[in-house]
Amino acid sequence: MSTFRVVSLQSGSNGNCYFVESGDVRLLIDAGITASRTAERLNLLGVDTASIQGIVVSHAHSDHLCGTGVLHRKYQIPVWLSQGTYHHAAATASIAKKLGKLQEPHLFHAGETLRFGGLTIETIATPHDSPDSVCFVLDNGSVRFGIMTDLGCCFLGLGGIVETLNAMLLESNYDTKMLESGPYPEELKQRIKSNYGHLSNDESAGLIRKHGKKLRWVCLGHLSENNNTPEKTLDTHRKIVGDNLNIVIASRYQCTEIPPLSY
Ligand SMILES: [Zn+2]
Ligand SMILES: [Zn+2]
Repeated sequence: MSTFRVVSLQSGSNGNCYFVESGDVRLLIDAGITASRTAERLNLLGVDTASIQGIVVSHAHSDHLCGTGVLHRKYQIPVWLSQGTYHHAAATASIAKKLGKLQEPHLFHAGETLRFGGLTIETIATPHDSPDSVCFVLDNGSVRFGIMTDLGCCFLGLGGIVETLNAMLLESNYDTKMLESGPYPEELKQRIKSNYGHLSNDESAGLIRKHGKKLRWVCLGHLSENNNTPEKTLDTHRKIVGDNLNIVIASRYQCTEIPPLSY
């Protein structure tokens, strides 16, 4: 029996940060909220920020890494990120400024599997519009948990990966009608809908319906503030997926605990 704890500290286009605990291993997947807010929310969970052993970053967008540098320097937390993410961050003034200098960053190639004690993290390349961006499958030997946001689209091979998962945090970014009739400029609407933007509620629910055979829990996250609501997200998923799957919606403003997974 092993317990696997995943808590979203925040999820949405306003910042993403996920706490993962498996045995003695404590990690953050993405650190896209301020370091002080991260520490405050970890504190609410009874977790000392200094006990975090690593931050694994999915891509070089501010909503996934803006707190990373400060957490790294203030608490001496090592950082893992893909080669392309690191180089793109270094070459983009606004991101480089937020990230600051990293001491001995652990650079990986998309497709590599990272090991932290008994936990492995598979890194999976995504077509999202940040160079060398990845999503993750965490595996503690008995549970496979996907952390899958900023996917771009339901890319080739994604369905096969979802079929192996027992639980996942999946982006369900926008409601198509709200996006189309909303205030965003046309160019931004096209970028969000494109194959390198985000998944809509319909796309996310379709992926689960078709490939979520082993899923016990789904946490829907990275919701847009302007183009989605938690109610619309849940409604669309219930219509497409049905009532049997356990679904929680990750908050944009506070911690959301995904029920502990024990097998
Ligand atoms: Zn994002
Ligand atoms: Zn992104």
